[in-house]
Amino acid sequence: TQYVYTFGGTAVSDDPRAKDKTITGGKGANLAEMASIGLPVPPGFTITTEMCVKYLAEGANFDDSLRAEVATALNDIERTVGKKFGDPADPLLVSVRSGARVSMPGMMDTVLNLGLNDDTVVGLAAVSGDERFAWDSYRRFVQMYSDVVLGLDHGLFEEALEIAKEDKGYYNDIELTADDWKALVAEFKEVAERELGRPFPQDPAEQLWGAIAAVFGSWDSERAKVYRRLNDIPGSWGTAVNVQAMVFGNMGDTSATGVAFTRDPATGERVYYGEYLINAQGEDVVAGIRTPQYLTKAAREVAGATAPSMEEAMPDAYGQLAKVFDLLEKHYRDMQDIEFTVQQGTLWMLQTRSGKRTAKAALKMAVEMVAEGLIDEATAIRRIDPMALDQLLHPTLDPTAERHVLTVGLPASPGAASGKAVFDADTAEVWVERGEDVILVRVETSPEDIHGMHAAKGILTARGGMTSHAAVVARGMGRPCVSGASALSIDRKAKIARIGSTEIREGDVLTLDGSTGEVMLGSVPTIEPELVGDFATLMVWADGQRRMKVRTNAETPADCKIARQFGAEGIGLCRTEHMFFDASRISSVRQMILAEDKQGREMALAKLLPEQRSDFKAIFTEMAGLPVTIRLLDPPLHEFLPHGDTEFEELAEITGYGVDHLKRRADELHEFNPMLGHRGCRLGITFPEIYEMQAQAIFEAAIEVAVESGDAPVPEIMIPLVATKRELEILKALVDKIAGEVFAAKGSTIEYLVGTMIELPRAALMAGEIAEEAAFFSFGTNDLTQTTLGVSRDDAARFLNPYVEKGIYPRDPFVSLDIEGVGQLVELGADRGRATRPDIKLGICGEHGGDPASIAFCEKVGLDYVSASPYRVPIARLAAAQAAL
Ligand code: PEP
Ligand code: MG
Repeated sequence: TQYVYTFGGTAVSDDPRAKDKTITGGKGANLAEMASIGLPVPPGFTITTEMCVKYLAEGANFDDSLRAEVATALNDIERTVGKKFGDPADPLLVSVRSGARVSMPGMMDTVLNLGLNDDTVVGLAAVSGDERFAWDSYRRFVQMYSDVVLGLDHGLFEEALEIAKEDKGYYNDIELTADDWKALVAEFKEVAERELGRPFPQDPAEQLWGAIAAVFGSWDSERAKVYRRLNDIPGSWGTAVNVQAMVFGNMGDTSATGVAFTRDPATGERVYYGEYLINAQGEDVVAGIRTPQYLTKAAREVAGATAPSMEEAMPDAYGQLAKVFDLLEKHYRDMQDIEFTVQQGTLWMLQTRSGKRTAKAALKMAVEMVAEGLIDEATAIRRIDPMALDQLLHPTLDPTAERHVLTVGLPASPGAASGKAVFDADTAEVWVERGEDVILVRVETSPEDIHGMHAAKGILTARGGMTSHAAVVARGMGRPCVSGASALSIDRKAKIARIGSTEIREGDVLTLDGSTGEVMLGSVPTIEPELVGDFATLMVWADGQRRMKVRTNAETPADCKIARQFGAEGIGLCRTEHMFFDASRISSVRQMILAEDKQGREMALAKLLPEQRSDFKAIFTEMAGLPVTIRLLDPPLHEFLPHGDTEFEELAEITGYGVDHLKRRADELHEFNPMLGHRGCRLGITFPEIYEMQAQAIFEAAIEVAVESGDAPVPEIMIPLVATKRELEILKALVDKIAGEVFAAKGSTIEYLVGTMIELPRAALMAGEIAEEAAFFSFGTNDLTQTTLGVSRDDAARFLNPYVEKGIYPRDPFVSLDIEGVGQLVELGADRGRATRPDIKLGICGEHGGDPASIAFCEKVGLDYVSASPYRVPIARLAAAQAAL
């Protein structure tokens, strides 16, 4: 195998491996590409990622064949440049850089000016005619090589430099003379020798192999490993090493170095964007030692800066650069992020890659590049990360604002919110009424916090995962939420929360970033979303490509409205128990749950019936013309039992029962494992009157809407937590019976469907039989994940993070479907359901319905629709389109 590929020289091979990122890494492949299309690239060579893997596997040894390949490649650079590596009269100097398939902070990045030593520095001074430049380059080399390759603390060198500047009374590096640098080089080498116990390496070959070994070794550094784990990058990839002839941006005032983007990466505008520094080397721009200057005159003027832009200071070089920008964009058909150097008026390209961008910029560029004929619509659709749309759907933190991060929890519901911390829902409501913005801070939330959650700008909980009550409800409401912030301890009585040594008292201002999970002290300015223009254009393109429908999980007219604005094509899940979270209604639900007998329940149900009916009417009206799936009651009882004396007292007043009686009843209803307890269809089986009331409310509402609007809704009635065909059979018969009664009473009929959720492994396994009774299946992957993994969705936050960090699950299985495991049950359920009933309607309504990777899986197994919370609808539309492409 060939392990070394040259670029930009005289002996460039046409082996396609040279431009293959998997072999020569992102940086190496792009350098080869740029050189081959005639751009000015200093000659160099790349040692492949395969060599890195081999080197690390075989115990950090370079074999002779590699040494021979490197020698040949180095010769080619020497021939091209007309200088020799290590020549004391006129030395070739090189840069050494790492470059994996994807750019990866955490690895060794760059060593410049390699090849300098006490002899070659003299030659460099003579040839360049600039002693100061030569010694400045040498000290940079000692400094960087010691830091990056030899692992010495760079602070040691900075300290020496600072002391030298102080002694001389200098402010700026620019003021140091050739002799000053000469003295500092001596001192730097002494520091290195003292720390290393051996002299700083003088032999250029030793320097080179040291740097190559350091690049390979950095692939296995702790920092790189952490980064790989967080970004799903396999350790087996390895990194390439790029060795390239130096060009100098620090050769006086006709030289410069800079970084640039072919379009503005923040706004997407088609303007050149970047920074440069005159008489400097690459790391000066990044290190922030000197303030970089603007690339274009326009940008300088907008910023009101005085230092001349490159366009003004170096019009020739700028003209060369602008041509290169255009060529690169035409070639790569994407916005490029570029590093360049100008050496005495001549432009050299050191790197290009597809540039990172904000969601807003991504949309603008994709849409405009289609108009420019650079890319087609399918490419534009593919190029947008659906999750990044989140940034656009909620007010977001101003990215330029400063953040004082206290802790990071789970990014449970995106968007940004600032407000005063309050520790209970009632206070939240009272404060909001008097015009304050609040953040509701709770250990975890429960249904009786709903009014507070609604009032609050954002919700912060110490416990609970991505599908905890707080997370699901907050996403539904579009409230930013950070859940499971385990560093947070809350003393509710004292109204104090603590994070480490920081105390947060009631009224202290907090900011939440629900997209990152960050919790910040103080307020951070936000910017508003924009759903028109490029966003709308791209969405129309996406809709033209997708096969699956996108519905929403919603239970209030307000949520329905938002979801429709976001493009929802129906309701996939209306959780009827959520309709009772309202303070005024929850007591009727509690009364029903706590009733001792059928008669007691019927009294409570009689109060709920008109409320349900008007709820459904409102939803049918809001969703006119679209399918609406209504799930009958499925509350794990613990979510609804009263807590605390006040709630019991209130309930006692309403029901006429004594507090003691109610408490005893609540004790009786206590369940050890409520998620697997008396919930779902089990409630319907044991207390049929509950489902009868709901069915009655649905049919009456539907008929009333049909009569009033002439547009008859087609309700899809869904039975939760079914495990057996018999359960569904009994409950479908119940629904049909009520339909018959309502139709007879009203003297008219409507169409309706009865179907079931598939959220238990048994239901998936028995889907063939269950489909005999079900017109549709909706995969409830929240419970299906919980029951398949045997992991409680409400308790998972405490241990799931380490599980993901250790790679036991690649991602939180409550966020992104465990395709390997739970996915099998979904696929099997879908297949068996279709085998029985070929036209069965199949959808998903767990949180996974809004997760792009899970949506791609749904496309693969042929579901008819996905259903996601309102703010995820656009994400699902785009993800469904990408899945179909
Ligand atoms: C589910 O279990 O996936 C589901 C959608 O129902 P819920 O989250 O209400 O239990
Ligand atoms: Mg469920």
